[in-house]
Amino acid sequence: MSDLLLDNEQARKLIKTLGLPLPVPERLRRAKGPYEERPLEGKVVLVGGHSALRDTLAASLAKMGAEPVVVGDEDDAKPFRRAGEAWGRPVRVVAPGEAPEDVRVDAMVYDGTGVRGPDELKGLYEFFTPYMRKLNKGGRCVVIGRPAALAGTHAESAAAAGLEGFTRSLGKEVGANGSTANSVFVEKGAEGRLDATLRFLLSPRSAFVTCQPFNISKDAKGDEAPTTQPLEGKIVLLTGAARGIGESTARIMAAEGAHVVCLDLPRDDEPLSKVARSIGGSVLLADITDPDAPELICKELKERFGGVDIVVHNAGITRDKLLANMKPQLWDMAVDVNLGAVIRITEKMVSNGVLNDGGRVICLSSVSGIAGNRGQTNYSASKAGIVGFVQSLAPQLAARGVTVNAIAPGFIETRLTSAMPVGIREGARRLSALGQGGHPEDVGQAITFLSTPGAVGITGSVLRVCGGALVGA
Ligand code: NAD
Repeated sequence: MSDLLLDNEQARKLIKTLGLPLPVPERLRRAKGPYEERPLEGKVVLVGGHSALRDTLAASLAKMGAEPVVVGDEDDAKPFRRAGEAWGRPVRVVAPGEAPEDVRVDAMVYDGTGVRGPDELKGLYEFFTPYMRKLNKGGRCVVIGRPAALAGTHAESAAAAGLEGFTRSLGKEVGANGSTANSVFVEKGAEGRLDATLRFLLSPRSAFVTCQPFNISKDAKGDEAPTTQPLEGKIVLLTGAARGIGESTARIMAAEGAHVVCLDLPRDDEPLSKVARSIGGSVLLADITDPDAPELICKELKERFGGVDIVVHNAGITRDKLLANMKPQLWDMAVDVNLGAVIRITEKMVSNGVLNDGGRVICLSSVSGIAGNRGQTNYSASKAGIVGFVQSLAPQLAARGVTVNAIAPGFIETRLTSAMPVGIREGARRLSALGQGGHPEDVGQAITFLSTPGAVGITGSVLRVCGGALVGA
């Protein structure tokens, strides 16, 4: 769908010329094609902060093909030289403080794992401030810390939480440039799991993910993490695959090597078959709210594929009405499609062993659902319910290496949002750090990322794909 401020050059120029107080969004750079070994080839990444993760960051950035600029001294740069030499990457060292004239950066990564109290938050200020005007369009900022809940002292816990607040605001400052800022909290001992998250956050695959915290834990078992074709050999069940976010997700997952079993309503046989055919996937026609659906789906997956590795509960509906006017069937439909069916199908897959070890369960929530939205009491009950469900199920399956997460999209340009009245649509697009709506593929990329073996450290969490929407819990 066309976005006037994004797609119309004349309108963009006019607003700038007239000096209207209207932020003109920057067109986002999105990934083209499947996962690459070196997604940061030729990209300049500024690295600084504490030292605990220096070796990990050096190895990851070198493998991704980045050109590191290290804020510090020769000692700080050593691990980057070692890692870089093997891959032929030049390393540059810059002194803390004012940025050299000739430096421009594509990404900035700050290691805040050592912050012990509020005073040390100043390190963020000192690292980022000199480079704020040197970040290229579509830039990436990542702040890494330890989880606040696991900190040894109250001051450490406060400082860790401070890293998140800083990054959320940073995302709102750099958003007009099409850039993002996210924080990552890595548990001690889970550092080896950082790589996949950094690859996602520093690459164009996370174009619409900003102002979000990521938690990386040791909870779920599993350490295999291929960087390319990460879904090779995986069987995926994807509900609501006939159109919108589901269709886009099916295409991305298939391009990463997965066999996607595309499920949608029997009346959508035609569009669904078209999607499945075009990606070499399979078709499964079912209404997920049908009482027999869990049994039927499990039987199909067991008999045809021996089980399932990744389950994406994407099918969803809105049945909006003010509570005073809501008929009981509207309530029932939204809650059953969006939540009841998700629980019944997942529990069946777990209880009869159809969900394979090392599996992934990803459920679609919604920012407007979690934050609350007028006329959406039924939708909000169901989409916030999804958050409770993933948090409850994740610890139960962690020992089997299964992760369970939710994705909460914000404003995504689909058939659903094109039906909104124009004024509300314009408002919803602009009220975010990136000042525009997301595309179905942005959600598809986030779902695919959480499905990969490398994302094993993330479980029981809610990932917002919302462009830094100003609304939200
Ligand atoms: P969509 O309407 O384009 O696609 C949803 C699909 O689910 C459809 O193909 C539909 O036939 C299928 N479906 C509905 N009920 C079903 C049932 N009982 N059994 C089987 N299939 C069924 O919607 P979308 O915008 O692509 O949304 C996908 C998911 O993302 C939904 O869960 C939605 O709530 C969530 N979401 C979307 C947005 C957005 O802005 N588009 C925002 C937040 C959350």
